[in-house]
Parts: sequence; structure tokens; C-alpha cells
Amino acid sequence: MTTHYDVVVIGAGPAGYVCAIRCAQLGKKVAVIEQWLDSKGKSVLGGTCLNVGCIPSKALLDSSHKYQEATQHFAAHGIGLEQPSLDISVMMKRKDQIVGQLTGGVAGLLKHNGVEVIQGRGKLLSNRRVQVVSADDDESIYDAENIVLAAGSVPIDIPVAPVDQVHIVDSTGALAFEAVPGKLGVIGAGVIGLELGSVWGRLGSDVVLLEAMDSFLPTMDTQIARESQKLFKKQGLDIRLGARVTGSEVIDGKVHVTYAVGEDSHTEIFDRLIVSVGRRPQTGELFAEDSGVTMDERGSIFVNEGCATEAPGVWAIGDIVRGPMLAHKGSEEGVMVAEQIAGKHHPLNYELIPSIIYTHPEIAGVGKTEQELEAEGVACKVGTFPFAAIGRALAAGDSDGLVKIIADEDTDQLLGAHCVGPSAADLVQQMLIAMEFGSSVEDIQMMVFGHPTLSEAVHEAALAVDGKAIHMANRKKR
Ligand code: FAD
Ligand code: NAD
Repeated sequence: MTTHYDVVVIGAGPAGYVCAIRCAQLGKKVAVIEQWLDSKGKSVLGGTCLNVGCIPSKALLDSSHKYQEATQHFAAHGIGLEQPSLDISVMMKRKDQIVGQLTGGVAGLLKHNGVEVIQGRGKLLSNRRVQVVSADDDESIYDAENIVLAAGSVPIDIPVAPVDQVHIVDSTGALAFEAVPGKLGVIGAGVIGLELGSVWGRLGSDVVLLEAMDSFLPTMDTQIARESQKLFKKQGLDIRLGARVTGSEVIDGKVHVTYAVGEDSHTEIFDRLIVSVGRRPQTGELFAEDSGVTMDERGSIFVNEGCATEAPGVWAIGDIVRGPMLAHKGSEEGVMVAEQIAGKHHPLNYELIPSIIYTHPEIAGVGKTEQELEAEGVACKVGTFPFAAIGRALAAGDSDGLVKIIADEDTDQLLGAHCVGPSAADLVQQMLIAMEFGSSVEDIQMMVFGHPTLSEAVHEAALAVDGKAIHMANRKKR
């Protein structure tokens, strides 16, 4: 027997569950299919983001930051502590509780909105039918006017460092170490490498990051990336660029890694090794050959601007389609697709998706980088302002980094905002709102910013674009 829905969503990560909720709000009869089971065999919602991604990594980033504050920074405030102790099992339990609270919250929201949750592995067949095989191997078939594929992504494996989740781990393993590794290797100095390398570095690991590229964070604004690299070095993260890993072997519980930099080959011995070299779309067994869905050259499901696949009535969103693999990008695609299913026009501005690295300080950017504009031949003007000249940042003892604002030389329109510094993510988000409204730099210059706040760095950087910053010596004067 085939059960009918208006919309069937495969995958209950931030792309899929948000799409399901919005479809239900718009009056559709919706089912979401999710295969994820926890260690006790219980179905869990929320996907990578809630279970092994954004949320547990931020829980550990916050815990480890507090530990570092207590061990290294409280003394400067005149606060003396006996040597703070560290209980990793308590830290992990706290992280797991936050995950449980949020995944339970998603289940509650789906129920509240009348979305049916079906446990099992979904596969798209022809004619908008979906086959589901449950954990008990029961098979059922559903059909729907609209089907949304939101199956997410998984870590990329590299043959030179096969993951065993004990000595050589991926991000999931690195979120669950039972003790602080003495010496920790990380392959890939990208977002995960930097965030999880920071967690364990703050808790006491000696961290070495081996990055194949010659440049550091090449998609970020170059000035911000350079400043970040300097700050990480100061924090003790040993980032080795141009390092190609050639092999690894576990001997007596230690991971021996060989790598080459140019012609020179090197060996390092680590207690644990994290492999964080990117993620790939989870498309295996997701759709039948005759479903009409196609793939693009990068192994993602092919979709148009509105996330429609080549098969009529079939959509795909989140990490399985082109674009950055970010929870907020997938969620907004979920809303966009739901609105289209309900017959509404709801475009997504792919030009303004913020990217953030939640280290300390944070690194964040939105819009164009200076090097992108240069490559496009757009004449731009730039203003920067250091947190070292911001009273609130000094008061907090958190004054590393800078804000950078980029505007069109001719029209004065804001084109990019980039930051490494305290609360960079929230400061860049302010600029994103301004950019969505087509703001000029002059608009920002003429606004009143509260004092003393970190936002004053944004105001001053905007003033600096035209050589009008007050609390620093401007290079150009107007
Ligand atoms: P997923 O979250 O991967 O969800 C897909 C779901 O589909 C899963 O639950 C999966 O079980 C299910 N599924 C797959 N195939 C099937 C099938 N055939 N049948 C049924 N169910 C299926 N992004 C940010 O924006 N900010 C961050 O701070 C951030 N931190 C991260 C930290 C880490 C360590 C990692 C690994 C990722 C992080 N990300 C972050 C990325 C973010 O987690 C992903 O971009 C996001 O989860 C993608 O959402 P999604 O819904 O497309 O896929
Ligand atoms: P990434 O693409 O950010 O970084 C991977 C790094 O590994 C790159 O610098 C790459 O050059 C390097 N690399 C690739 N192959 C290598 C090799 N063989 N040897 C050495 N270095 C190699 O990917 P990630 O850090 O694994 O993260 C995966 C995805 O998850 C990203 O797309 C990211 O958007 C998302 N994520 C986002 C956040 C966030 O928004 N804060 C946090 C974590 C993860």
C-alpha cells in the first residue's frame, strides 16, 4: 500500500526539518524521513548540525574557552584561583545534554506542526514515490506531489589516513575524546581543523595542523586570513602550510604521520590524529536511476537557483547541493523551497551568506573579499579599524583583530564586511543587514553607535573607508 502526502522530505537536518516545518505552516500534509539512530537505537532528528556538528562543537568551544580564561586570563583581572581542574567527562556530558535538549526540541516542533516523522532510510523512486526501509528492515512506499531531498554530507576520507575513530578520527570522533591528547595532529587547517584544534589546544594538547595548500584560509579576505594566522600562532597552534600527508601508521597506540613539504619529507608522532579535509554530499543510494534526478560535476545533486532538480516536483537542499556547506544556508533553502511549493516567489540571496569560524577570536565575513573584487576589476575603497583602539574591547581584555569594510569606489555601496576579533560573527551580521538593504558606507558613517560597544569598530572602519576615522590616525584624510 502506498501512503500519500503533499510533501515528503528525506533527511531531518537543519535543511530538511526547517523545510518540513515551513511546508506544514503553509498548510501542507508533510512527512519527514530520517535514518539516524543514537547509540541506544533511538531515532534522532537534527542531522549533522545538532548531533555531531555546529552545536556539540560550539559547546566544546565555549567550555574550553572558559577553561582557558580561568587558567590564563583571570589573573590579569586580579582574580586568583587555585589551579583549575578539568573533568572531560563532565564537559562531554554537558555537551551531550545540550544536543539532547535541541534534538528533542526539533521532535517537539515537528509534532506541534503536525509533521509525521518516519524512521528509516529513504530512496527516491520514479514518479515521485519514496521507498523507506526501517531499522527493522520493514519496507514501505510513500508518494507525494513534492519530494525534498535533504540528505546532507559526510566527512571525506583520505587513504593515507584511514579513520578508525580511536587513534585516527574524523570530526565526530574528535568531539568525543575521553581524555586530552598529549600531542594532537590535524590534517586540514580549514574550519573544522581550526575549531576542534582550538578546543583541544586550549585544554592542553600540543596541536600541529598539516595543511596541503600553500595559503591559509584562501577563501577568506587575505588581510583577515593573515591576521588570523598570526593570532593562531600566538595561541600556540602550529600550522604547517604546503604539507602533503603521504602516509600514517598506528604503532603502539601512537599515530606516525609522514608528510612532505616541497621536496623534504618529515615524520611526526601523535597521540591522536583528526582528519578534517572537507565533506562530501551524501548521495549514495538516495535516488533510483530512473527518478530523473541528476548530479553536477562536483558530485552534488544538480539544482537550479530555486533548488529544483531536473525531476519535476523533486527539490534538493542543504549540503547535498552546490554552495557552502553551512547550516544557515541549508535552512534558508528549506524555507525557499517550502514557499515555492506553496506557489510563492521567495528567492534566496546567495551573495550574502555569512561564513564564520568560531575560534577565539572569531573570524567572519560576508559579501566580497578585496581579492575577489580585484579579480572582477571592481574599483573599491577599503577601511579597517583595530579592536586595540576600541575601549570596550580593551576593558574586556579581548582586543586582538580588526574590522574591514569594503565599498564600491564609484557608488559608495557596501560590498563586503570582514572581521577577526571579539564577536566577529555578530558584527558582520549587522553589516549583512545593511548590505541587504543596499546601504552605502555613508549610511553607516552617519548612524549612531552605542558607546562603549564592540560595534564601534564597525562604525570606525566605515569612517576609515573615507579617511574619517576618529580614534586612529587615518592614512588618507578627507
Ligand atoms: P545534515 O545536517 O547532514 O542532515 C542530513 C540528514 O539526512 C541526516 O540526519 C541524515 O541521517 C539524513 N539522511 C541522509 N540520507 C538519508 C536517507 N537516505 N534516508 C533518511 N535520512 C537520510 N555549519 C554552520 O553553519 N555553522 C557551524 O558552526 C557548523 N559547525 C560544524 C561543525 C562540525 C564539526 C561539522 C561536521 C559541521 C558543521 N557545520 C556548521 C556544517 C553543518 O553541520 C552542515 O552544513 C549542516 O548540518 C547541513 O545540513 P543538512 O540538513 O543539509 O544535512
Ligand atoms: P574545509 O574545506 O573548511 O577545510 C578542509 C581543509 O583541508 C582545506 O584547507 C584543504 O585545503 C585541506 N585539505 C584537503 N585535503 C588535504 C590533504 N590531503 N592534506 C592536508 N590538507 C588537506 O573542510 P572542513 O574543515 O573539513 O569542514 C567541512 C565543512 O563543514 C566545510 O564546508 C564547512 O563549511 C563546514 N563547517 C562549518 C563550520 C562553521 O560554519 N563554523 C564549522 C565546521 C564545519
